[in-house]
Amino acid sequence: MDHQNSSDRLQRQMFNISSKGITCEECKNPITELPFEPTERKDGGYGKLYCYECNKKRMKDRGLKENFGGGNRY
Ligand SMILES: [Zn+2]
Repeated sequence: MDHQNSSDRLQRQMFNISSKGITCEECKNPITELPFEPTERKDGGYGKLYCYECNKKRMKDRGLKENFGGGNRY
């Protein structure tokens, strides 16, 4: 009955960045949300940013136990 599974979602604040028109460095899909607010650089870009899925893959590759969105443990 309790919403136990949704607690993880509530903890992590998501920033809506759909208006910034940022695309994923990996799959080139538009990124609408990030768990952090991207900082604009001097050249007007935001550096390399990745969508949720690609972020998850990269963290796995790097062996970081960030628990990004839960799921399979390394
Ligand atoms: Zn991506």
